[in-house]
Amino acid sequence: MSTYRFLPTLSEEELRARQLEGLQWTVKHALANSPHYRARLGEAGVQAGDIRSLDDLRRLPFTSVSDLRDGYPLPLLSVPEEQVVRIHASSGTTGKRKVLAYTQRDIDVWKHMFARCYETAGLTTLDRVQICVGYGLWTAGAGFQLGCEHFGAMALPIGPGNMDMQLQILTDLGATCLCATASMALLMGEEVEKAGLRDRVKLRKCIFGSETHSPTMRKAFEEKLGLEDSFDITGLTELYGPGAGLECAAHEGIHYWADLYIVEILDPETLEPVEPGEVGEMVVTSLQKEAAPLIRYRTRDLTRLLPGDCPCGITLPRHDKILGRSDDMIIFRGVNIYPGQIAAVLEPFADVSSEYQIALSRREGRDFMTVRVERAAGADPANDENLAQAVGHSMHKSLMARATVEIVNPGELPRSFGKTKRVLDDRNRE
Ligand code: ZN
Repeated sequence: MSTYRFLPTLSEEELRARQLEGLQWTVKHALANSPHYRARLGEAGVQAGDIRSLDDLRRLPFTSVSDLRDGYPLPLLSVPEEQVVRIHASSGTTGKRKVLAYTQRDIDVWKHMFARCYETAGLTTLDRVQICVGYGLWTAGAGFQLGCEHFGAMALPIGPGNMDMQLQILTDLGATCLCATASMALLMGEEVEKAGLRDRVKLRKCIFGSETHSPTMRKAFEEKLGLEDSFDITGLTELYGPGAGLECAAHEGIHYWADLYIVEILDPETLEPVEPGEVGEMVVTSLQKEAAPLIRYRTRDLTRLLPGDCPCGITLPRHDKILGRSDDMIIFRGVNIYPGQIAAVLEPFADVSSEYQIALSRREGRDFMTVRVERAAGADPANDENLAQAVGHSMHKSLMARATVEIVNPGELPRSFGKTKRVLDDRNRE
């Protein structure tokens, strides 16, 4: 018997039955109540009774961020307004915000998802959870707090910034779990160190998310805050908010709540499924969402499914951490490559820095890739040739693509305050 309060223990068969039931309900609900989906599903020739197996998911049309923009301010709305109890929004990268509506049942499902996160992280009702993420229109603060209270731990809702208050609450109330971005956790670790408060801090765990982080950064805040463990959280506003999945104590990927939404991993170019275990774009379909259901929503996030059972004992399936955005994909000699995969190859090499640049060229109809990597400060330039060879070998092994690796001096590659341009593609110049 399972000892979990919030995490379900489901056989593959039970999970698939729940997914089919949820998919049938979602399509029926969207057809009956959303003019947007009724038009889209109608164009695709889909009727309410057409979903007989999970394979029928592939007959459904995709939903994308432009559908949210077109439907502004309340896109995909599928319930009468009197059933909407709340909205949240996220900043759109271009123009309008993404505004999403929630019914009371949506809020209840979300807090249940979030309670699973705290359970996966091994918290108990005696934990004190310092929540240092944005409150208000954003989903983060509301989600972390709802889930914490539903789980039964003590929420210390502070929001981001305000370091003096953070340190005071941290020490006076003895917070045991920190919820923050990786950057905020690192900053707090540095402040704790500076103020000499380490002995008065009782933190054991940190749940962090919303931005990419490197293993080095994670190790730094774990050490500075004296943590036993930390956990990467996933989620997006379109799919309730954060809390859609959590890394488990075995640290072998992220368990996601597959009884509440279906994940497909598709090639972002062809929109066909990738081979099992390969990286592609995560496309999600909600199974219980009322106010704004998602049917095959293209998240643009890249990850891969992790097959097999997890040693932690949780039976819900896993995907890898988010590896980047599909907009950044390169197609090289028929292989899809993402800049984040190159970064992952470089990570174990102590003699290179985190900075790299990918240059693509074409000679006589054949594509070539050069990866320029900075030597780490203090590493011996005499070793460059060996280092280049080792990096190239590792790249070939994990990406199935041959690249020429050039080691350059520390600080030689361009820097940026925003998003660093890592790919120079000259293949279509002539
Ligand atoms: Zn696990």
